[in-house]
Amino acid sequence: MLVIVFANSMHYDSAGGKCYLPYIINTLLTFVIVAFMIFLLVRGINRMRRPAPAAAPSTRACPYCATDIPIKASRCPNCTSDLRAAPSR
Ligand SMILES: [Zn+2]
Repeated sequence: MLVIVFANSMHYDSAGGKCYLPYIINTLLTFVIVAFMIFLLVRGINRMRRPAPAAAPSTRACPYCATDIPIKASRCPNCTSDLRAAPSR
């Protein structure tokens, strides 16, 4: 709204000459608003293009038989080794 008011009104100083300060302010304000909108647009596009973060792994390798087992397993379902005493990798 402020931009429209500045754009539609003529301003004269006390000597009758044109005063360009409102036009300069209008131009700077318009530039700042447009630049901010473009910044928001580019940031939104970059967020949409960013790949989803990789999911946390849910399995790990058994240190005895090297098969994939759940991370929370305390005993290997394949070789029945007790994993609580095993060295964690
Ligand atoms: Zn195993």
